[in-house]
Amino acid sequence: MHKATLDYAQQKDQQDPLSNYRKQFHIPKDANGNDWLYFTGNSLGLQPKATQQYIQQELDDWANFGVEGHFEAKNPWMPYHEFLTESMAKIVGAKPLEVVVMNTLTTNLHLLMVSFYQPTKTKYKIVIESDAFPSDRYAVQTQLEFHGFDANEGLIEWKPRVGEELLNIEDLETILEEQGDEIALLLIGGVNYYTGQYLDLKRIAELGHAKNCMVGIDLAHGAGNIKPELHASGVDFAAWCTYKYLNSGPGSLGGLFVHEKHAHNKDLKRFAGWWSHNKSTRFNMRQPLDVMPGAEGWQLSNPPILSMAAIKASLDMFNEVGMDALCEKSEELTGYFEFLLNQLNNDKIRIITPTNPKERGCQLSIQVKDADKSLHQKLTDAHIITDWREPDVIRCAPVPMYNTFEDVYRMVEKLKDILDEY
Ligand SMILES: *Cc1c(COP(=O)(O)O)cnc(C)c1O
Repeated sequence: MHKATLDYAQQKDQQDPLSNYRKQFHIPKDANGNDWLYFTGNSLGLQPKATQQYIQQELDDWANFGVEGHFEAKNPWMPYHEFLTESMAKIVGAKPLEVVVMNTLTTNLHLLMVSFYQPTKTKYKIVIESDAFPSDRYAVQTQLEFHGFDANEGLIEWKPRVGEELLNIEDLETILEEQGDEIALLLIGGVNYYTGQYLDLKRIAELGHAKNCMVGIDLAHGAGNIKPELHASGVDFAAWCTYKYLNSGPGSLGGLFVHEKHAHNKDLKRFAGWWSHNKSTRFNMRQPLDVMPGAEGWQLSNPPILSMAAIKASLDMFNEVGMDALCEKSEELTGYFEFLLNQLNNDKIRIITPTNPKERGCQLSIQVKDADKSLHQKLTDAHIITDWREPDVIRCAPVPMYNTFEDVYRMVEKLKDILDEY
């Protein structure tokens, strides 16, 4: 049984096999040199100390070799994206053939929909969660319009039941039973950004495929947080960003997954560029397009190496730790956070994230009765960095790579004080 004491939290940190990783990150500090309590790794992950060297390496090689760096750099730029593939594939539970790092998340969603959203006059609707991230919503609305459909009529929302926040898989089942013949695509957030709910991807894929729908997953809040087992889930495609749990820096590149079953289908419609083309003849320059098999065949451009260097710095760390160890700590750390919040026994707050650890990652979304943004401001003023979502939710993600049991203990102590004044 957990205890709500500082001693106990510190003892948990001492027993934590991953406790050394915190030292490998820059933790922002207040004016007195005390570490901030940083709980927004779900929004922008902290900077690994190694990142600077990884980027410096590429700056040096650019200075020393110019264009020859494509072949002569320590990590040659020509195949640089391949250095990320294996680690990224492990993080999302995919085969290397199925994964590539390129572009940004919303761009990748559009490129994937070019291939996997092929509506007909009668089968054209798209299902998203009602609490989908706005970018995903805009992406599917404009895809509908691009194909000549009415964005309102063509969009089906999978909603929580009245008075609830979480989604029920049975309700998706009902939507598919009733309208499956008109639905072309499901595009679902694997871990919801607002509630932190982690959905059963395999079940979603089965339900969608039973009605001949394509199934795509947005893993922005999943990659590096949970183990989505993308290959085994059977979903057709997925996309995510790397600046949240994957600590690769603001606006960094995204990841893309295309299931192996589509890897060799050259008839899939796609938007192509020279980086989609067969590596061995790419530089002959005068050939018809010969699309590469697998996820690499969705690339368009030669990628930004400086951004990839930052991703490599982070993925090398993830590779060393492994998602198993990370998720084990995550479950323990978030479990302790939940225990402390429940211990407050304060009816002003309610955790809306699922209580079952298998249905969430590290994030807890705390709904605060009659709160407004000033509550969040008080936390921020105390250098406790959380995220406020209108109308009344604080999202708080203790990430296992660098957050501590002491962090969550101190956070809940402060929250208690603030709620008492409220
Ligand atoms: C963070 C996030 C995005 C952001 O998209 P970008 O294209 O990287 O700006 C999109 N969708 C979801 C679900 C997100 O969580």
